[in-house]
Amino acid sequence: MEIKIQSYTSAFNSIYRQIEQAVPNHTELIWSYHKSERRMGTEQLMELLLKGVDLVLVSLDQVQYPLNNNLGVLAVFANGADKHNPLLLLALNQQLNLDASVWDDDLRNSYGQVYIAGFGPGNPDLLTLKTQRLIKEADVIFYDDLLDDDYLKQFTAELVYVGKRKGKHSTKQENINQLLYESALEGKKILRLKGGDPLIFGRGAEEYHYLAQRHVDVEIVPGITSALAAASDAVIPLTSRGTSTSVAFTLGHDAVYNKLPEADTLVFYMGASQQQRWAQRLIDEGWPENTPVACVHNASMPEGEMKRYVLSDLKTAKVVLPAPALLIVGQTVVNTGEKSKKWLYTGMELRYFNEKGQVVHNPLVKIESTKLSDHQVSLLNNLRAFDRIVFATPYAVHEFFKALFQVGLDVRALNEIALSSIGTSTTEALQKYGLIVEPESKDNSAKGLVQSFHNKKIENEAILLPCSEDGLSILPEKLQEMGNHIHELKIYKSILPDNAVRHNLEDFYGVVLTSPKVVHHFFKLHDTLPADLKFKVRGNYTKKVLDEYLTQLKLHNDAALFSIRAEYDG
Ligand code: SAH
Repeated sequence: MEIKIQSYTSAFNSIYRQIEQAVPNHTELIWSYHKSERRMGTEQLMELLLKGVDLVLVSLDQVQYPLNNNLGVLAVFANGADKHNPLLLLALNQQLNLDASVWDDDLRNSYGQVYIAGFGPGNPDLLTLKTQRLIKEADVIFYDDLLDDDYLKQFTAELVYVGKRKGKHSTKQENINQLLYESALEGKKILRLKGGDPLIFGRGAEEYHYLAQRHVDVEIVPGITSALAAASDAVIPLTSRGTSTSVAFTLGHDAVYNKLPEADTLVFYMGASQQQRWAQRLIDEGWPENTPVACVHNASMPEGEMKRYVLSDLKTAKVVLPAPALLIVGQTVVNTGEKSKKWLYTGMELRYFNEKGQVVHNPLVKIESTKLSDHQVSLLNNLRAFDRIVFATPYAVHEFFKALFQVGLDVRALNEIALSSIGTSTTEALQKYGLIVEPESKDNSAKGLVQSFHNKKIENEAILLPCSEDGLSILPEKLQEMGNHIHELKIYKSILPDNAVRHNLEDFYGVVLTSPKVVHHFFKLHDTLPADLKFKVRGNYTKKVLDEYLTQLKLHNDAALFSIRAEYDG
């Protein structure tokens, strides 16, 4: 048997031996070397096959991409020091029965795998499981605009920003392609993350082909494109029986020159600055002036906003929502007049709130340790002076131990001191420090604890109460009335976090306020309220504080009390 090899590189000596090993015994290899003037595409290679050539050895830059699938790349070999231009061994003849296991030197084995994945519209909740897994596993992540890098920072991957936000100059597509390629040559596991879906106004395919052409293994992972998130947020059916049977995603960055597709519903990407012009253009092209329009800014995000118009209003609108925004146009954009059912949750831990519908989490309180005074230090050094410590919240537990460790003591300092806990999550927090303490009050109410102390006749004890600077409203008083001596150990404060968002309350059905402190912080941010805004508050005292504010604002509002398993915010 004979195998004819045509080489377009003079550097085939080292490769010769490998091919010899791959072919069946007693095969005669017939080599010929040619200089090629032009790039070889599928057509040229097929011609060679007709001339009886079985294998072709050629450098990457001599080949025209894409090659027909039948022209398999058997192996990719190093080409001297030129790592960007390796040699390819192509099989023209598919009948050859070569032993591929001998291609140890196949460079592709040393290349890293690249994934081009969609991050979705911005909210990490809308990531696919696959992309989330890749984020965890990647060595390096190249990411774009519209992507929450805070979310990415919690993982180990090296983060490389290649977008154009934050005043940086935009990274040119060619540079991005090269960066990805260089990283792949280093053998890294690479995740290229793009907003939304990588193939919708995302240039994902360009990156794909750049790498595939260079024989890097690359895979595309879809993401939720922002139009879908915007439609969900605004409750706009993009198709709707009788109203809209087609939807087009269209480029919006130039309202004069961009083509207008024919569809019942149009979604404009990248058109935030052109909204009024699009309204004009659509009217000019015969769309009725009263066609409804919605603009959704930051779809899927807590700070998302939405505005609805008809075309004639949008045309003359003075201010419109900024980028990133999507414009949805068509009869299906009905304004049902219904308020969205979003709740704004202001407590620290969202997991305690299970209301149906969308919940936006905006913690209005954050715990910050305060500096221990000399008096507090000596008190911690003399804990034996107390009969009992009452922990009212998990935060009190954590802050207490932080302070204890700070003065060089540990859990042994609590030996022989009785401990009491309010609420199961406080009990869980104590467990983390090796302490088993049954909660006196399972519903996390101070009242429950007082009742239990009554029953157990706990009176005349010296009790330490670790708490925030604001103190604990009624608890110390009640315990004192029973004849105990209370000392509040104020070791932290609950502050308004810097990143607390001032939401447009018109977008909300209601607000959940979890502690008096949260109420104060809420009214620091908002001095007016929509009259129909609903409230849920945690605990009677919180309700009382809220009522005072509402009276000041001359609003009547029946706040509903809600109870949660165990949370006490600040
Ligand atoms: N590949 C992305 C689109 C990239 S083009 C996707 O599939 O969504 C960038 C444009 O997408 C922005 O100008 C804006 O029109 C839109 N966009 C992306 N994320 C958005 C979001 N969270 N809210 C509104 N528009 C968004």
